[in-house]
Amino acid sequence: MNKERLLREFNKLISFDSPSFYEDEIAFYLYDKLKELGLEVSMDNALEQITGRKTKAGNIYGFLKGNTEEDPILFSSHMDTVKPAQNKKAVIQDRIVKSAGDAVLGADDATGIAEIIEMLTSIKEEKLSHPDIEVIFFVAEEEFGKGSAIFDYSKVKSKIAYVLDLSGRVGDAAISAPSIISFELTVTGKASHAGFEPESGISSIMASAKAISRIKTGRINDETTLNIGTISGGVGKNIVPEKTFVTGEVRSMNHDFALEQINNIKRIFNEEAVKLNASVDFSYIENIFAYKIDKKECVVQKYLSAVAKAGYEPPKLINTFGGSDNNTFNKKGIHGIVIANAMNDVHTTKEYFELEEFYKATNICIALATS
Ligand SMILES: [Zn+2]
Repeated sequence: MNKERLLREFNKLISFDSPSFYEDEIAFYLYDKLKELGLEVSMDNALEQITGRKTKAGNIYGFLKGNTEEDPILFSSHMDTVKPAQNKKAVIQDRIVKSAGDAVLGADDATGIAEIIEMLTSIKEEKLSHPDIEVIFFVAEEEFGKGSAIFDYSKVKSKIAYVLDLSGRVGDAAISAPSIISFELTVTGKASHAGFEPESGISSIMASAKAISRIKTGRINDETTLNIGTISGGVGKNIVPEKTFVTGEVRSMNHDFALEQINNIKRIFNEEAVKLNASVDFSYIENIFAYKIDKKECVVQKYLSAVAKAGYEPPKLINTFGGSDNNTFNKKGIHGIVIANAMNDVHTTKEYFELEEFYKATNICIALATS
């Protein structure tokens, strides 16, 4: 591994403005980069499919033919960042890399991409033996994995995958993640003058308040959370409010239980609306699906041996409450886990990582790909 080259690659990657749905430049760059490293590369038209915008950029798939009999192995990261995403720039202080300005640093997920690139470069340079290696760089991960959701998996040979997209201590890996189901609803009552004829009005705010007061929010159980995230309604102080809009989400390691919670929310709103002669228009989206990987599975065991082989302490295997492209992998039958790639305080301008952690994550990837 070449530490300077690794850091140079990271700086190159964050020099592209790549908020979700605008990954064009970084995608073209990575397409060429993988070709240069000797991979067979293809790019789909995910961005056009998702946004309708005319562009050739999309998810990138790379294949590197192996020279061992081991089973193929898949690595993935995402090319988009959250906002503020413009003019990202890194500074290093006390061996900590952080954002120099008002944008996020972009370590989520550029450290992951840089580690994969350095892994491939080291393999080529040092002529290391390895199985078939597949790489996918996705667009639009931060938008509930819209890029990975429309990728064509028929070409993927690997049965196991490592998704470099986990914040926190490097070495740790997430072996389960929740379903995330979001909902939105409109309660419709009837407008009237609040002073002249309040009797003829139906308050959608009152119906919503009564419903919400009956819904348990926060941590529902060990593996489920529920949030009412936004509420807005009414148009004036002296008008009985006709419309109220409410949004929220449920996360659960158990998809059916998450759906049950959603149906519960819908039922309670309907019950309270009916009492006041109001009505409810309710919809929900199943953004991502829960998965749970057993510790005994090959994808986990292989990871544990790679970490040991690279000379590090045994990692912690955790359950995350965040989603990633790995939810899609598992839904498509590819058993993946999410591994820490050196990023902290992600989705804020305080995002940072430690250089040592960056090197460690790269060493673990090289050990994984060459074991
Ligand atoms: Zn990420």
